[in-house]
Amino acid sequence: MADISCDIVVIGAGVLGLSVAAELTARGHDVRVIDPGRTNASAVAAGMIAPAFESVLDGVNAERALLLRDAAALWPDFARRVRIRLDETPAEWRGADAEEAAETLRALGFEVEPGAVRVATDVRLNAAAALYALKASLTSPVIKDHAEAVEPTADGWRVSTTEGAVLGNQLVVATGAYAALPGLPGGTTTLIDGVQPIAGQIGRVAAPLSDRVVRGREAYVAPGAGGALIGATMVFGSRDLTPDPEASERLATAAGALLGTDAPADIEWRAGVRGATPDGLPLAGPVGDGLHLALAPRRNGWLLGPLVGRVVADGIEGRPSGPHAAALDPLRPTLPAG
Ligand SMILES: Cc1cc2nc3c(=O)[nH]c(=O)nc-3n(C[C@H](O)[C@H](O)[C@H](O)COP(=O)(O)OP(=O)(O)OC[C@H]3O[C@@H](n4cnc5c(N)ncnc54)[C@H](O)[C@@H]3O)c2cc1C
Repeated sequence: MADISCDIVVIGAGVLGLSVAAELTARGHDVRVIDPGRTNASAVAAGMIAPAFESVLDGVNAERALLLRDAAALWPDFARRVRIRLDETPAEWRGADAEEAAETLRALGFEVEPGAVRVATDVRLNAAAALYALKASLTSPVIKDHAEAVEPTADGWRVSTTEGAVLGNQLVVATGAYAALPGLPGGTTTLIDGVQPIAGQIGRVAAPLSDRVVRGREAYVAPGAGGALIGATMVFGSRDLTPDPEASERLATAAGALLGTDAPADIEWRAGVRGATPDGLPLAGPVGDGLHLALAPRRNGWLLGPLVGRVVADGIEGRPSGPHAAALDPLRPTLPAG
């Protein structure tokens, strides 16, 4: 491959890298994305945009719930722009603690439909189709290659790949839960190496099981991938992608309980690894010298994609971003390495 030059290089074509690239492309920038094209966490995900029920599960405060709600509110416009279809059927909490969940949601400012605990904020998309749409919204195809190292140049960054090099004035690192690339500055390497991997297992059933996302504390069932998805485990500190039979059984039983049926059979299991910071929010924004991060959205990469895209694009353009940019700032003092 001959060397490629552009304004902005993005390493990583998960939801974060592609959301940043889509936002920058919409703003008229010349962007190139590099990714070898292997299955990533974004492709494995259930595709729930779930500010309300994620708030319940994580026991967040009102400020964090507002951030998640505001992030979700960016989705309809973003989806229209990049041609992602949103399934806006309200998700439902069917756990045994439904009344308690409804109370928590109302206290956090979410509107809960009377009767069944349904919230209009929590919608879903098909992750594989959405990744495809994000790629299709770019002016140039993703460069199917592995970035091996980066180095600063007189006017930007040089990314060495297996096949050549990509040069840009600014660089966005969106490499998921992988280790820091050689050549990044020491402080950035420390930040990236501080991202904790969390392996997660999800199952696919070929037949539809529910018309909407159904959630509880032990599992969820979501329409998706031409049938239904059952998730998901959280194995902290693990990058192991091997499905665990015990976890499979536990999730299947919990899914059956949510649906009021026997445990679904013939489930095909797979896993992905999410990256997480100590405070649970991504690293999104500039770290200096034309270098920007879009990493570690924990369980909410899809939910946070448009917000991260906007914050990183604003950082690249050197303009102030919205009220939540400080909470995502990679150099926020509340992070151990900040
Ligand atoms: C089972 C499961 C279910 C989930 N369900 C949901 C959900 O319903 N809703 C939700 O919001 N979130 C969900 N998540 C979380 C979500 O999937 C993640 O937060 C999100 O995918 C992380 O996106 P990312 O872009 O940071 O990383 P990734 O999707 O991992 O993408 C990183 C990319 O960087 C590339 N890369 C790494 N190193 C290099 C290199 N050196 N050169 C080139 N490319 C490189 C990789 O190939 C990869 O494609 C789920 C996660 C799992 C595991």
